[in-house]
Amino acid sequence: MPESVTDEEHTEIERSRRTDEELLSRGSDRASLDVGGAARPREGYGTQAHIWQREKVFELSDVRISYAGVPAVRDVTMNIHKNAITALIGPSGCGKSTLLRSLNRMNDLIPTASLDGTVHYHGEDLYASTVDPVRVRQLIGMVFQKPNPFPKSIYENVAFGPKVLGMKDDLDERVQGALEGAALWDEVKDRLDSNALGMSGGQQQRLCIARALATDPDVILMDEPCSALDPISTGKIEDLMLELRESYSIVIVTHNMQQAARVSDATAFLIVELDEAGKQRTGRIVEYDETEKVFTNPSDSRTEDYVTGKVG
Ligand code: ADP
Repeated sequence: MPESVTDEEHTEIERSRRTDEELLSRGSDRASLDVGGAARPREGYGTQAHIWQREKVFELSDVRISYAGVPAVRDVTMNIHKNAITALIGPSGCGKSTLLRSLNRMNDLIPTASLDGTVHYHGEDLYASTVDPVRVRQLIGMVFQKPNPFPKSIYENVAFGPKVLGMKDDLDERVQGALEGAALWDEVKDRLDSNALGMSGGQQQRLCIARALATDPDVILMDEPCSALDPISTGKIEDLMLELRESYSIVIVTHNMQQAARVSDATAFLIVELDEAGKQRTGRIVEYDETEKVFTNPSDSRTEDYVTGKVG
């Protein structure tokens, strides 16, 4: 076992794997991109299958994402599965965030960004011209590296998304449900009118998770969600991720190897390569497998060097 995975962490991987097997899978709640399609139900679990047998949420085929025509990441072919935490790891600049942002069309907001290849979401082409990007970002929420609450009350932060999307019925219940889902309700229920900027960093990040949950997402994308947090707040977010996995599919970018080993079910390791002229740097996946395999018995020596800390 590589030095970077302690016995305790290995036990934790085993524990979460067992929990995983005990989890119940939902069969027929395929999230539809059709505007007004059925929201994700929270009940009706069956027996949770091995990760690769679980329903595919995303199918990426030969994806290349470029900025101003220069590829940042290429040759990405991978499936991302339901009720799993999928981690993207690798050195800075290998395209982890770029790849993550392609999963909810956030790169559309960058004028120079373009995508080749296909990204299917529950079997539908995520980039089809008929798909509404607002609906996409409702179903596929995002939590960023730095907590970014609005300078408004805690309540208004969570209610904002539902209000914009016209989900105004039972708003108080929706806000409470989202705050409960983000393990924050008990800490804030008596001060919902307080300004969110007065919360601690860890609370702010859980508020951002609540904000994502408030619009009934199917997937939550997390871009280094703990990198600005202390270890205790990080632990709370990691525990929360494991809870959220029961109802959502999560994709996380992290530079923290222990975090990927502790929480994720599957891990993709990316590297950045120089072209033959030594000018262009492009990221690609060298290994994508079950997290335990990636951290304890990787197929590629470059993965091993990275996860054991020989190279960074
Ligand atoms: P990582 O998350 O692995 O650090 P990124 O996805 O942030 O990698 O970046 C991958 C490459 O794409 C880098 O070379 C970076 O400079 C480039 N890049 C990222 N965002 C932009 C952008 N908005 N415009 C131009 N280039 C970008």
